[in-house]
Amino acid sequence: MNIIQKPSKNFNSRGPWAPNVIVNHITGGNKVSSAINEFTVNDRASAHFVVDLDGTVYQCVDIRQAAWGNGTSQTQYYSAVQDGKTVSLASKVWSQYSKLDIVRNRKVNANLYTISIEHVNAGGGVLTAPQLAATIELHKYIIAEVKRIYGITIPIDREHITGHCFIAPKTKPSCPGAYFPYDSILAGILGKIEVKSDTTCDMVMKQGATYQLKLTSIIQPAVTIGTAGVLTQELVRQTGNDYFVKIKAVGKPGTGAGVFANGKKLFAVNIE
Ligand SMILES: [Zn+2]
Repeated sequence: MNIIQKPSKNFNSRGPWAPNVIVNHITGGNKVSSAINEFTVNDRASAHFVVDLDGTVYQCVDIRQAAWGNGTSQTQYYSAVQDGKTVSLASKVWSQYSKLDIVRNRKVNANLYTISIEHVNAGGGVLTAPQLAATIELHKYIIAEVKRIYGITIPIDREHITGHCFIAPKTKPSCPGAYFPYDSILAGILGKIEVKSDTTCDMVMKQGATYQLKLTSIIQPAVTIGTAGVLTQELVRQTGNDYFVKIKAVGKPGTGAGVFANGKKLFAVNIE
């Protein structure tokens, strides 16, 4: 996939750890430039990837390195010097506060075994349609890269594909937000995005005739024709989750073909 490199200096070695948890985040602001600036100019934080509202994907940290996005503390209290005295302070990012077994059981800094994706904020964790499509592709890319580099298969479940709030519920309860589409992302990775078609019955079309169908889906469905040279298809327009597709009968009378969305047959057309 097309990824624009914007290298950050904010990372550490993973040490002996291999990544097998993908953590989703939402940015504070709604500009991709300020998110990337935060990771590349300021010395405060980083994520491996940033997905803009228009679906453009940026990479700031190599998958083999630990970004600074999901830090957890191994201890409930830490020592600090205040007014010249050493005091014990409570950590709000203690790993035992996490809602994930994997984080509580490992008891190390979660940055060591996680890969972070920032999404530019469209509000409350909602993703734009191109952003959702892009993050599904990015999740698939990360899973393939982790398999290639480490020989590890990241399970497609909510324990391993998660959000910042599940790792640090005390400090980041709203990252990536209540409306973040975890289930749509999992379905997209598994190739199980549902497509509703307003046309499901087989039909007969005259050669040269056209027909418009409406498909409803959270991301643009891939429409294909089962037999070459029988039908052409084009996306005419999109309104929200509705995609209007025009098919044209171009084959000879007596030929026929199926119309498919995301690999599933919707109906057949016979040409007369
Ligand atoms: Zn976050």
